[in-house]
Parts: sequence; structure tokens; C-alpha cells
Amino acid sequence: MARLRDVYKGARFYRLTVMGLPFKKYEKNCNFVDVKCDCGNEREVRVTDLGRPHHSISCGCYIKEIHRKLFKEKNPSRKPVICIETGEIFPSAREASKSMGLSNPCVHEAIKRKGKAGGYRWQYCSKERRRIGQ
Ligand SMILES: [Zn+2]
Repeated sequence: MARLRDVYKGARFYRLTVMGLPFKKYEKNCNFVDVKCDCGNEREVRVTDLGRPHHSISCGCYIKEIHRKLFKEKNPSRKPVICIETGEIFPSAREASKSMGLSNPCVHEAIKRKGKAGGYRWQYCSKERRRIGQ
């Protein structure tokens, strides 16, 4: 999660680049900022949502790419998982465990008990919320 002092013009959060200075909007204590995604889409996000998986790591294209990839593999039953700290996405909990050098159900177990596996927190990513124009 981004702190206000980390948000300046040109700062990057996964695929998003900050386009200007944070500004106040409807909610009194809430700062927003304009960002541009690597794919070219521009949007406005809450500063506190920046860099949070499922919130603002991209305009929505990141998750779409993962889904497209999974669809191509013709294995829609697998649920992709995302590493909360790094934002890295794996096609399944099993593959995430494997790439971390952990035994098979580690990542799945960590998600279930909201704990850590390999020193990281994980989440299933079936969708990215607050997408723009969808
Ligand atoms: Zn995008």
C-alpha cells in the first residue's frame, strides 16, 4: 500500500505510473491521484489503494492477460494466485508453491488461514476490483 510521501509524479506501482500530485476529492481524508497504466489507459485511484493487489496494480489489463493465458491453456478450473507483496501472479497455488520451492499445498494453505508461505502473503485473484470502463 502506498503512503502519501511515496506518491509523486513518475512513481511506479506495478503497471501504474503516477501522473501528478495527489488531490482531495469527495471524501475528506482521502487522497486521489491520476495514474497511467503501461497499456495506455488512464485512471484515477485512491492513494491508499495504489499497489494493492485486487485494487490498483493496473487498469485491469494485468488480470485480463492472466485470464487469457489460462484460457489458452484450456484449464479454466485453476485459480490464479497473486503474491500480495510482489504482485506476481501464478496460474495456480500449486505453481506458486513450486516456484517458491515449497511443497505443494503450502500456498493454498496460507491463503486459507490468511497466513504466509515462503515469507509472503497470497490471495486468489479471480478478478480485479474497481476496473475502469468495464
Ligand atoms: Zn492497463
